Amino acid sequence: MTRSIPEHATNIARRIARSRVRPIARALVPRSGRDSLRALRKSAYQVIYRGNRVECPCCERHWRRFQPSWNRPNAICPECNSHERHRGLWLFLEQRHPELLTDEVELLHFAPEECFRRRFAALPRLRWTTADLEAPEAMEHFDITAIPYPGDCFDAIICSHVLEHVEDDAQAIRELHRVLRPGGWAILMVPMDATAPSTYEDPSILTPAARKRAFRQEDHVRLYGWDFIDRVRAGGFDVVPDPFLVELDPATRTRLATSQDPIFIATKPHEA
Ligand SMILES: [Zn+2]
Repeated sequence: MTRSIPEHATNIARRIARSRVRPIARALVPRSGRDSLRALRKSAYQVIYRGNRVECPCCERHWRRFQPSWNRPNAICPECNSHERHRGLWLFLEQRHPELLTDEVELLHFAPEECFRRRFAALPRLRWTTADLEAPEAMEHFDITAIPYPGDCFDAIICSHVLEHVEDDAQAIRELHRVLRPGGWAILMVPMDATAPSTYEDPSILTPAARKRAFRQEDHVRLYGWDFIDRVRAGGFDVVPDPFLVELDPATRTRLATSQDPIFIATKPHEA
C-alpha cells in the first residue's frame, strides 16, 4: 500500500504525539488550546482522507479510507472516531434491533462511544441513559458492579469493551441481569482470543506493562476466551454469539471496514 506524503507526515506526527511529548504538552497547553489543536487535526484528517471508497454507518460520511490506528491500517473514521467494531455494531443495531431507533426503549448504555452519542441523542423516542465510572461525557457515574437502579427497569443494555476492565465481572454481569426487565436484551462485546476456549486471567499480573503483555492493554484484567458465554449464563442470562459480522457480505465488510468480532446477545428469561 502506498501512502501519500501528508498521510505519512501525519503518521509520524501521531507517533511523536504518543511518545513522552504528550504528558509534557498536556501540562503546558491549556485545555482550550488542546481542543483547538484537536479540531485542527480533525480538519486535516478530513482533507487527507477525502474520498468515496469507504463509508462510516455511524456518521454516514465517506472517505478514501479510514485513518490508521496505532496497530492497523484503515481503522478510524476521521469524523466520528468509529472503529471497526463500532461500525459493525451500528449496522447490527440498524438491522437487528430497528426498534431501538424508532420506539420508546429504555436503554442503559455503558461507556458511551463518541461515534454513537450523536445518533442516539437525536432519537426522539429513545430514553437513553449513559454511564461510566468516571468519563465526563457519560450522564451518570457509577460502578457497574453496584448499579444504582431498581431491578427490571431497562428494556435494553449496551455494554461493549467494559467487562475486561472490571475485576469482579461476575458481579457486573449479575447487576446487568438484575436491572434488565424480563424479556429484555443486552449487547455484550469484549476483546477475545477467538482461539482460546478459556479466559486467561491472573490476579498477580498487576503492572500496566505486564497487563499489556498478558491481556493486550494496560488497564485490562483478563483476556476472554469462549467461556465468556458460561460467565454470562452464570449471571442468569440466556446468551448466544450472533454471527452477524462474520456473515456480513464481503463487499459491505470492505466498504464499512467492520470487524468480525462476535456480538453476544444476552436475554433475561421470563420467570417460569
Ligand atoms: Zn464516522
